[in-house]
Amino acid sequence: MSSDQQHKEKMQKQKEKIDANIAAANIEKGVAILLTGNGKGKTSSAFGMVLRSLGYNKKVGVVQFIKGAQNCGEADYLRAACPEVELYQMGTGFTWNTQDKAADTRAAEKTWLVADRMLKDTSLDLVVLDELTYMLGYKYLDRDTVINGIAQRPPEQSVVVTGRGGGKALRDIMDTVSEVKDIKHAYKSGIKARQGVDY
Ligand code: ATP
Ligand code: MG
Repeated sequence: MSSDQQHKEKMQKQKEKIDANIAAANIEKGVAILLTGNGKGKTSSAFGMVLRSLGYNKKVGVVQFIKGAQNCGEADYLRAACPEVELYQMGTGFTWNTQDKAADTRAAEKTWLVADRMLKDTSLDLVVLDELTYMLGYKYLDRDTVINGIAQRPPEQSVVVTGRGGGKALRDIMDTVSEVKDIKHAYKSGIKARQGVDY
């Protein structure tokens, strides 16, 4: 058999497999996605889905836990160019900077109220909960409250959670869990965080 023929047969088999998988996936519902791991790419991937959704005129809500004390390009852009996107930032910065557990807990709870409202809003197609996992890790938020809020959202709504860790119970209720693996990061060889790339 010629290598062209071999290639054609291999591709044919692959296509049959892919078509069968597409035919088998017939559940129409929003998906819950967790982007976790130590590598770079979690928040930027979540914002990639925001952009995708906006491309179809879908309604999007974004809540950023931690973020807000320092600039971040994607949020600044959304605020300026996409006023239809609901955006809320906790705004306390990093917990190792605030060093105040009671204040962080209050800020996290206040931010969760916004997230919870979005998770009950049937008009929202996509809700991003950026860096939410740390609120669970530091116990600023009650794990079951968060998990129930995500699990009981409207069936058509998709949700993206980002951040390292988060725990098994959170992973268990998500439909898609991706771990971004840190192979290397520029920062570790002394390269400064880059505007437009890192923030
Ligand atoms: P990004 O926002 O770039 O998608 P991320 O959401 O995966 O990154 P975070 O832990 O939220 O990662 O941290 C955000 C910032 O930390 C970014 O400036 C990113 O480049 C940097 N960063 C992410 N992973 C690492 C790493 N493994 N080592 C050093 N810096 C990192
Ligand atoms: Mg992030």
